[in-house]
Amino acid sequence: MRVVAVPMTTRFRGITVREMALLRGPAGWGEWSPFLEYSPEVAEPWLRCAEEAAAGDWPAPVRDSVPVNVTVPAVDPERAHRIVTDSGCRTAKVKVADAGRPLAEDQARLEAVRDALGPTGLIRIDVNGGWSVEEAVAAIAVLERAAGGLEYVEQPTASVEDLARVRRRVAVPIAADESIRRAEDPYRVRELEAADVAVLKVQPLGGVRACLEIAERIELPVVVSSALETSVGIAAGVALAAALPELPHACGLATVQLLTADVASEPLLPVDGALPVRRPKVDPQQLDLLAAAPERVRAWQARLEAVRAVRETRR
Ligand SMILES: [Mg+2]
Repeated sequence: MRVVAVPMTTRFRGITVREMALLRGPAGWGEWSPFLEYSPEVAEPWLRCAEEAAAGDWPAPVRDSVPVNVTVPAVDPERAHRIVTDSGCRTAKVKVADAGRPLAEDQARLEAVRDALGPTGLIRIDVNGGWSVEEAVAAIAVLERAAGGLEYVEQPTASVEDLARVRRRVAVPIAADESIRRAEDPYRVRELEAADVAVLKVQPLGGVRACLEIAERIELPVVVSSALETSVGIAAGVALAAALPELPHACGLATVQLLTADVASEPLLPVDGALPVRRPKVDPQQLDLLAAAPERVRAWQARLEAVRAVRETRR
């Protein structure tokens, strides 16, 4: 196991440096990067994903590239326009409802993104659970007009019950993201008919094969998304997106550029709005360059032991 600490280009989830553990197995490297505050119980499925990658136990791909969205943070319209134009992506995910900011700013950002994408591009908005049901119904009408049509609205409200309430009152499709964090969550979303699209992340849900099984059983279109990983972790998301029988929406896997450095010699970055389906080669020099401090490595070794202890008690 190697542990790296990678500075990020922008603050995200309150952190500016992302720590990841990389595990080596017979098929290469797997990434284990549960966020630091996660308990051993929560971090356990993340480890399964890394072990599956290191063992090379991935399903066969049915496509050789995966379309991805560009992510537009809560920035001013000029910057939003530039981010979209520079990306080469045909789908943009735009962050809205940033704490305390007026709806007019979201409107202006969406108008700029539509201008940059042209009439055929797709715009989805991500609310990260920031609205109440009433706020969501009112805001979605306003923002759909500003964007000139929305592909879907991601997590308009925090609870899955409210997601279902919003979905019954608007015509725009609803996607569940934060409502899906544990393996049982997608079935709850389906049971409540709370979403039209399921956002799946391979690490929290226990790996590529586990997600493929979920995708088959929930009978909802899937958007594969990242948990802010190096190219090694992104490759697992790409493996899932490449193996899904249907992939009607662009995936949220173009996130390596949120990190200032990567462990791969050729990072998994989008070309013409898509990622190639391949396993990146890890550069040993980058592993040394980005190595976490010895006390952080010890902390991750202790985490690994704690997760293994959780598994022992489950036996
Ligand atoms: Mg989201």
